Amino acid sequence: MKERLQKIQEDAMRQINEAVNLSVLNDVRVAFLGKKGELTAVLKGMKDVAPEDRPKVGQFVNEARKQIEEALESTKEKLEKAALDKKLKEEVIDVTLPAKRNKIGHRHPNTLVLDEVERIFTGMGYEVVEGPELEYDYYNFEALNIPANHPAKDEQDTFYIDDKILLRTQTSPVQVRVMEKQKPPIRMIAPGRVFRADEVDATHSPSFHQIEGMVIDKNVTFSDLKGTLTMFVQQMFGKDTKVKFRPHHFPFTEPSAEMDISCFKCGGKGCRFCKGEGWIEILGCGMVHPRVLRMSGIDPEEYQGFAFGVGLERISLLKYEIDDMRLLYENDERFLKQF
Ligand SMILES: [Zn+2]
Repeated sequence: MKERLQKIQEDAMRQINEAVNLSVLNDVRVAFLGKKGELTAVLKGMKDVAPEDRPKVGQFVNEARKQIEEALESTKEKLEKAALDKKLKEEVIDVTLPAKRNKIGHRHPNTLVLDEVERIFTGMGYEVVEGPELEYDYYNFEALNIPANHPAKDEQDTFYIDDKILLRTQTSPVQVRVMEKQKPPIRMIAPGRVFRADEVDATHSPSFHQIEGMVIDKNVTFSDLKGTLTMFVQQMFGKDTKVKFRPHHFPFTEPSAEMDISCFKCGGKGCRFCKGEGWIEILGCGMVHPRVLRMSGIDPEEYQGFAFGVGLERISLLKYEIDDMRLLYENDERFLKQF
């Protein structure tokens, strides 16, 4: 019995020493100490040993077991350390390799222009305000002196949600919302998305952006309007830019005008860019209609104001010489990368 145990122990020790990795070592453990292992088999055979010899044999078995377990444990630690060393060696970081570049996107031309417009007007003391895209008919039309039967309120041009609510067709309703809340003096611009039931082509889109501007104060005249907008376009298109006003009609301003700027390509001589005119139409403007002031709770005897509205895309197309508005909405990387 003793010899058998010694042989088992020697075999186990040899195999433990020869184990090349943790998996082999585990197989050795199972082979000797597992349920069907060799040492376990000896324990099971104890019943055949004479009762007086059992304590002694038991002691041998326990000692053999203890030694095998200790050997297993120390070899396991050794193999684990070797595996960790190997892993660390393999995963070493080469700090001389070039770093991964973070791809930085490009700003959209509309964003660039809007930032520039906001910079110019906040520089003149204007506040930038926003209003809802889903708007009441009252703010979009009625409060701006556009009654129900007015041609500007063509149902075919407007996306109605129900009788009273629509997708705003202009940023002008923001003016009304500001006038209702704020006492003059008011100096504000309101950039935002507007919606009209237009077919998509090179110059039209059912969704585009406007920037509304308004000043309400005492003794505001058309000269203030002219001076402000001249300053704006000269900062936007160059200091030699000239302006020209043509009489126009808007329901919410009186008098109303459309403003042209001298072509910044040819300086007014006439070229392909300005279609030989020397002038480029840029925005609509006028003195706020007394009725609009009164409807918003401002006394037109005490306060006057001017307002203007400019298409954001219009400036983007001009400034970056883009000939098709659709390019601004298609998110084509090849196009956007140029800005
Ligand atoms: Zn020109």
